[in-house]
Formats: sequence, structure tokens, C-alpha cells
Amino acid sequence: MLKNDESVGARSAHTRQVKQWVRELLVDGDAVTVMVGELECAEPGCPPRETVIALLREGGRSEQRKLHRALLEVTRSDVERLLACGDGGGEPGSGAGGPSGA
Ligand SMILES: [Zn+2]
Repeated sequence: MLKNDESVGARSAHTRQVKQWVRELLVDGDAVTVMVGELECAEPGCPPRETVIALLREGGRSEQRKLHRALLEVTRSDVERLLACGDGGGEPGSGAGGPSGA
């Protein structure tokens, strides 16, 4: 049980660290709300946990990216790759009805 306590502390510290990396790597990082969480993954061949990074941009656009890796194992280069490739991310044209007049 001690170990459990310890990993809760490590996890929240690492969550903060991952958010920090996302901000540093995004061009508009200051304008983005970053959320980092961990989910169970049931896919065969995947680790039992995966990390979800959600980006909420001004104007309500949001993007969600998943890493098939436990939160505590996520490194800065994972975040870099995730943000660079856009894999599993947004659905283009998910909004109904064209550009909103700015
Ligand atoms: Zn998975």
C-alpha cells in the first residue's frame, strides 16, 4: 500500500511534467488548455494503460491524442512524436456547416 501512495505522488508530478512538455512543444502553447489523463486499454498487444492528451484551444476546438503507453512511461520524445504526426487525432470537417464568420 505504501507503494500505491508513492505512485500517486509520482503520477501527479509526471502529469504536470507531460503538460509542461506539451506546452513547450506547441507553437501556441500558451493559448491551449492541456489535459493529461490515463485510461485502461483493452486492445491486445497494448500495455494495460494508455495516456490521453487533450488540447483545448481558444474558440472551442479540441483535439485528443492517445499514446499506447502508461503515463509514467511517457517521455518528452513521445510527446514530440505525438504532436508532430497527428496520428489518431482530429477529424477534419467534423463541424457541421462551414467557416464561422470571424
Ligand atoms: Zn492501446
